Amino acid sequence: MKVLSIVVPCYNEEENISDFYDELMKTEAFFHEHDVELEVIYVDDGSKDGTVKNVRALHEKDERVHLVSFSRNFGKEAGIYAGLQKAKGDFVAMLDCDLQDPPALLPEMYGYIINDGYDSIATRRVSRTGEPPIRSWFARRFYSLINKMSRTEIVDGARDYRLMTRQFADAILSLDEYNRFSKGIFSWVGFETKWLEYENIERKKGETKWSFWKLFIYALDGIIAFSTVPLALASIMGVIFCILAFILIIVTIIRKAVFGDPTSGWPSLVCIISLISGVQLFCMGIIGQYLSKTYLEVKKRPIYLVKEEL
Ligand code: UDP
Ligand code: MG
Repeated sequence: MKVLSIVVPCYNEEENISDFYDELMKTEAFFHEHDVELEVIYVDDGSKDGTVKNVRALHEKDERVHLVSFSRNFGKEAGIYAGLQKAKGDFVAMLDCDLQDPPALLPEMYGYIINDGYDSIATRRVSRTGEPPIRSWFARRFYSLINKMSRTEIVDGARDYRLMTRQFADAILSLDEYNRFSKGIFSWVGFETKWLEYENIERKKGETKWSFWKLFIYALDGIIAFSTVPLALASIMGVIFCILAFILIIVTIIRKAVFGDPTSGWPSLVCIISLISGVQLFCMGIIGQYLSKTYLEVKKRPIYLVKEEL
C-alpha cells in the first residue's frame, strides 16, 4: 500500500472543513483501486472560528484525518511547510480548503506521476473570472515584472494546488528559509513538472483572506526573495547620477570661464537636491528591504509553532 498525504492549510474555514472532506472522499474509490491510502492533514493557521473543533470532530470519525494547529496565524506559506513536514506519504498533495482547488483532479494528476514519470503536477488557472479587474491587472504586471527580474520562472496564474512525489516534497523541505515564497520555491527546486490548466472556480463559502494590500506586500516579498535586480538597479541609478553630476560640473565651469556667468539660479539647485535626495532615499529603501529580510533569516526563528496535534 502506498500513502497519499493531502495537506490542507486552513484559516477561519469552519464552513469548508467537512465539505472539503466529502469532496475528497469521492476520489477514495479510485485510490483504493490503485492501492493508495489517503491521509488528510488539516493545518489550522491560528483560526479564530470553529475550524479546529470541526477538524477534531472529523478526526473522531476518521482516524486518517490529522490536525496540526498553530499557536497563532503564521500565514499560508508556514501552513504549507508544516503540512509537508508532517506528511508521511509517498505522494503529497496540497489543496486549499475552500474547494477552489477541485479534489476531483487528483486521480488525473496521480496518473501523470505514475504513468508518465513526472515529479510534480502543478495547476494554473487560465481565467480570472470573478476577480476585480484592477486586481487582475496588477497580478499580470507582477508576473511580467518578476519574470524579467528573476532567473526562477514564476508561472502566471499558478495556484499552490500540486501533487508531488516524496523526492520533490523532500526537496521543498530542504529549503528551510524563513521568508517563504512557494511559487518561487516550487520552481527553484527543478524536476519535471506538468502543468494542468483549469478555469477559475469561485470560492463557495467563507471569504478570501487576501486583501489587495496583503497581496501587494506578498508580491514585494516574492521579488525580494527571488531577485537581486532591485539592488543592481540602485547601483545603476547611482552611476547615472554621478555621470549627470560630472557633466553639470563641467558645464558650470565652462559657463563661468567663457561667459563669466554669475552663479545664479538657486531654484534649479533646490530641484536637483530634492531629486537626488529622493533617489538616495529610494535606493536606501531597497537596501533596507534586503537587510530586513536578512535580519529575519539570521534570527533563525521557527517558521511556525504548534499548539495542538492530532
Ligand atoms: N490560508 C491560511 N493562512 C492564511 C490565509 C489563508 O492557511 O493566513 C488558507 C485558507 O484557509 C485557504 C488557502 O490558504 O485554504 C487560500 O486562501 P484564500 O482562499 O483566502 O485565498 P485565495 O484563494 O482568495 O487566493
Ligand atoms: Mg481561495
